[in-house]
Amino acid sequence: METASGMINNIFFIIFPIIVYQMFVTAGKRNFFVSHRTMLTILFSLSIILCMNFPYEFITNDYIFDLRQVPMIVGALYGGPYVSAFLFVVAAVCRILIGGEGTDIAILNQLLIAVAVPLLQPAFMQMQWATKILSVFLISFFSLSFNLLAGYFLFDHPIDRLYDIWLLLMINQGIVSVLAALLIEHIMRQEYLLNSLLKHEKMDTVSHFAAAVSHELRNPIQGIKGFIQLMQRYEYSREKQLEFHETILKEIQAAESLIDDYLVYAKPSYGQMVCISVKREVEHILKVLGPYALSNNINIVVKSLDKEACIMADRQKFHQALVNIVRNGIEAMPTGGKFYINVATHNAEVSIELADEGCRMTKEEVQRLGEPYFSTKTKGTGLGMMVTYSVIRQMDGHIKVSSAKGKGTVFTLLFPAATRTTTR
Ligand code: ADP
Ligand code: MG
Repeated sequence: METASGMINNIFFIIFPIIVYQMFVTAGKRNFFVSHRTMLTILFSLSIILCMNFPYEFITNDYIFDLRQVPMIVGALYGGPYVSAFLFVVAAVCRILIGGEGTDIAILNQLLIAVAVPLLQPAFMQMQWATKILSVFLISFFSLSFNLLAGYFLFDHPIDRLYDIWLLLMINQGIVSVLAALLIEHIMRQEYLLNSLLKHEKMDTVSHFAAAVSHELRNPIQGIKGFIQLMQRYEYSREKQLEFHETILKEIQAAESLIDDYLVYAKPSYGQMVCISVKREVEHILKVLGPYALSNNINIVVKSLDKEACIMADRQKFHQALVNIVRNGIEAMPTGGKFYINVATHNAEVSIELADEGCRMTKEEVQRLGEPYFSTKTKGTGLGMMVTYSVIRQMDGHIKVSSAKGKGTVFTLLFPAATRTTTR
């Protein structure tokens, strides 16, 4: 009874941290066990400490045993040399504090595990599932035989009870290690599936996109072609020609803005994140959008522009995000009106408020913002907001939208404030 419940405790000390660990599986991380090494180290250190403090008698009360070698071996195999070194220190300190007979052999054994197992790690990571599991069993099995041999050769301890105790101990430890490895393999497999699902979804969106964009591009291109053919065929008055040029330019602009929307999203690598001054960027955007706003009878009012507000961002994409919001605001006020900009810093958070007086959105529309192809406009692409949302999320920012009757729509962008030192 003693043996069983003690052993079950030990097994629990090993399995529990792994299960806790599983809760940290996050999408998007490439190698979960590498990216969470610290977590792995802390949890397995806990396993070791608990195992060593609650050992169990094995068959007779002469043999007190614990499963500390399991987290050490599994930790070294999946975490690598640094994790292994740290776990060794934890186990050795624990063993010294516990004291008593056999401390020297135990620490020697732990040292051997801590040094030898990480050497096997690269080969281990290349193995097939079944080979991996077998290797874990063998490593765990033979690491215990070292205790026996070191005792015999270095300290002249006799080898007794080889079959009825030691062999069972070795098998016992081997099986628990396999159990731990199986759990970890399972977690890694889930992580892999999650990541490939995400990648698949992204590819799916991008290919949808490509189809949509090429389809959308056909309209303006056909328009341009038609006008040019007309001008080739007939002699038009200068006035008429200018009118055609105007239309052609408009079509080209439509195509351009579509490509802009598309490219920012489709570009797989993320540009450089630098500390930028929000004031400067907003001023830049005002310059770019000024003529467009004027021609639509829109007055852009800057309420306040905090000079100190700085955020970490990719300049190009930040522009794109702001331009998309301002453009929508302008488009929401077909009969003209005012567009307000307000930039402020509060508690290490930069807020950029962009408000229009245009047609408001329903709750349902607000919820759908950022969804690809969601557009209520006849000539809309429904890509602008999606790009804006994805860009701002990548910059650790948040978007709050409030749209109320008679007040228009307010977009509030919140970013963590950056320190000024590296501003460019
Ligand atoms: P598009 O502008 O091509 O329609 P967006 O992704 O930029 O696509 O916007 C999606 C939809 O969100 C718009 O069609 C519009 O219905 C709504 N919307 C976005 N911004 C505003 C706003 N400021 N006021 C009212 N509706 C808006
Ligand atoms: Mg838009």
